[in-house]
Amino acid sequence: MQTISILGAGTMGHGIAQVFAVHGHPVRLYDPSAAALEAAPQRIRRGLEPFLKLGLHTPQESERCLENLTLCTGLEDACRGARVVIEAAPENLGLKQGLLARAQAAAETDALLCSNSSALSVTAMARGLGRPDRLVGAHFWNPAPVIPCVEIVRGEKTSDRSVDEAWALVAAAGKEPVLVRREVPGFLGNRLQHALQREALYLVEQGIASPEDVDRVVKYGFGLRYALMGPLERADLGGLDVTYAVQQTVLSDLDNRTTPSDLLRRRVLAGELGAKSGRGFYEWAPEKKERLQGRRDLALLSIIRLARGLDTEQEPSK
Ligand code: NAD
Repeated sequence: MQTISILGAGTMGHGIAQVFAVHGHPVRLYDPSAAALEAAPQRIRRGLEPFLKLGLHTPQESERCLENLTLCTGLEDACRGARVVIEAAPENLGLKQGLLARAQAAAETDALLCSNSSALSVTAMARGLGRPDRLVGAHFWNPAPVIPCVEIVRGEKTSDRSVDEAWALVAAAGKEPVLVRREVPGFLGNRLQHALQREALYLVEQGIASPEDVDRVVKYGFGLRYALMGPLERADLGGLDVTYAVQQTVLSDLDNRTTPSDLLRRRVLAGELGAKSGRGFYEWAPEKKERLQGRRDLALLSIIRLARGLDTEQEPSK
């Protein structure tokens, strides 16, 4: 098992630590905030609960997960001799460049460096590194222990070897890696997600439907299928001729603006930020958010089990 250092113990960092520690890796978790570091073991304990409830981990595996975790107050201590470093610090290019350079100097010569950045360029983050070929994007989704997909992102200087190692590392920890062959803003998942988000906001803005009904058509309509098959599998099943005909009618009428939605901007300016401020498109009492999140993780893990069963049927055509 490889020693893995994780830089940043926030929302993503503690979840990524759980993923690798439960799979037997010694994990060193670093954060400059004492509060974030102290909170991590308790957050991980809570994160393990749905896995225990569904029998996906044994109580021994959960205990082992916490035993494999070392909290570090210094970056150099955390990285010394590490085989792999995963950066999950705030989304700021200068900060990440500085952290990665220090990590590369402290870790094992030739260690693999991964960044969990949501949107920053891997090529830009690698600038200033002695070994830019060893940096690769590894974009986990929140909650990291639950959502299987990890986008492996190749920067201009990333070597094939680094891509292969990152892929193998996350696959061995039970994740579903996908390869972004050429980095683009938003990688794969956020591009697809925001194509849908733009149209959802447009439909509400134009008064064509209420926020509730836009959400319901996804939750109780085509979104149900997306848990089990992607848009291209779906097009194959429905018939590519049908998809082609619908595109001819619909595409010219879709929102194609390249600036964020006015509706979104007005809400943000009014301080209506969603669950975190108590109000967005819906009203959010604090306990409602917590209740929903707890139920969400259990439900997601059950769906993922079903989806993976169906996936064994699928052979892509060349
Ligand atoms: P967060 O604010 O929850 O956590 C960031 C942590 O980094 C904090 O605990 C903070 O104390 C720590 N930190 C601050 N300065 C640091 C430094 N110099 N070195 C190391 N740690 C430092 O943020 P997050 O949501 O966990 O996001 C972390 C990264 O993951 C970002 O790049 C973000 O874009 C990406 N990401 C976030 C999500 C998400 O849904 N939250 C999903 C995928 C990727």
